Amino acid sequence: MGKIEVPAIEGWFTTGDQPTLMGTRCRTCGTVCFPPEAALCRNPGCASTELDPAPLSRRGRVWSYTDARYRPPPPYVPRTDPYQPFALAAVELDEGLVVLGQVADGYGVDDLAIGAPVELVVEPLDEDDDSVTLMWRWRPLAAGDPPAGSQPAGEEAT
Ligand SMILES: [Zn+2]
Repeated sequence: MGKIEVPAIEGWFTTGDQPTLMGTRCRTCGTVCFPPEAALCRNPGCASTELDPAPLSRRGRVWSYTDARYRPPPPYVPRTDPYQPFALAAVELDEGLVVLGQVADGYGVDDLAIGAPVELVVEPLDEDDDSVTLMWRWRPLAAGDPPAGSQPAGEEAT
């Protein structure tokens, strides 16, 4: 209680009720990047240096996933000691980007499937006496979850 909440990586995502990953969008060619690009458009055919902050879709679809059975190398900060396995999901966003993230607390590979919808959440990664470090995670969406208010309805394949 009363601890300061600190994003694990400053500037890569917002916190709060409706967290979003923050990428950058090129003013010249429209290429969207994540992680945010500081200096130069990542499109090899574009030399623009004018990049605007771009909040990314809060929902995406599982592109791939895996069980992290071994302890990842730093800068990963284990939440538990001894290490407990967790699930990782690579999630494809409407922007065409695939963003890797840990799966939300309480979920595992049994809750994931290729193409299944997930939503971005922000959860504690680590904490000390004064602060809580926050990190984004992917939370599997259940059938009963309300549609995202801020996201336009996508065309379903079927
Ligand atoms: Zn560009």
